[in-house]
Parts: sequence; C-alpha cells; structure tokens
Amino acid sequence: MSNCIFCKIVMGEIPGKKIYEDDEMLGFLDINPVAPVHFLVIPKKHINNIMEMETQDTVLLGRLFYKAQELAKQQGCEEKGGRFVINTKTDGGQTVEHLHIHFLGGRSLSWPPG
Ligand code: 5GP
Ligand code: ZN
Repeated sequence: MSNCIFCKIVMGEIPGKKIYEDDEMLGFLDINPVAPVHFLVIPKKHINNIMEMETQDTVLLGRLFYKAQELAKQQGCEEKGGRFVINTKTDGGQTVEHLHIHFLGGRSLSWPPG
C-alpha cells in the first residue's frame, strides 16, 4: 500500500533496523522503544489490522508468532519472557495501520494496561 510507512520499510524506501527478513515477513527494531528489547514483526503483505485478516492468513500469522518468539530468545529474553502484543484499531491504540506484532522485554511489565 503506497502510503503505508511499514510497506515503505518493506520496500526499502525508508530505513529500518532489520533483525530478520524472509520472503513473507520482516523483523525490525521499534523506532521509539518502550522497553530495553522492543521489536516488531510484520507480514510483507499489507493487512490493515488483525480484524481484517482472512482465512488464508492463518498460517502466516502462526509463522509471524513463531519467528517473534525465536527473535525474543535471540535478544536475551528466553529466561524472563516478555510480552507479544497486537494493538488493534482505535481502542487498542494502533497507530500504524499495517498488522504488526510487538515484542517487549528486558524489564518487568505492568498489567493491566492503562
Ligand atoms: P502501534 O501503536 O500501531 O501498535 O505501533 C506502531 C509502532 O511503530 C510504534 O511503537 C512506533 O514507535 C513504531 N514506528 C512508527 N513509525 C516507525 C518507523 O518509521 N520505523 C520504526 N522502526 N518504527 C516505527
Ligand atoms: Zn503496509
């Protein structure tokens, strides 16, 4: 999608600190980290949000989560864990309309969110 900032990172039109890439997904560091470890995993395919995923996207979503947990371990969070988050639409605080999984780790996180 031409106006999407994450599609532009996928296309290499704007820079991103990539930590993983394959044919269907990209992992990169969040530009405004809110935890010592904060990265995003996105599908290269533009999907606005998880509520707009289609039946054929279910395997892709599984792969995104599998890669996210591998990357979380690589970033030193295997022992203490962290949080895998998909903010969705306005009530969920989604600011970029391209489906993404956040991983936050490296510090203790409070619950529930504010
Ligand atoms: P959301 O609020 O939609 O769940 O998360 C969007 C995330 O994308 C935010 O944490 C924000 O810091 C991050 N972000 C927004 N623009 C950019 C960018 O251009 N590059 C990178 N690496 N992260 C971005
Ligand atoms: Zn996009």
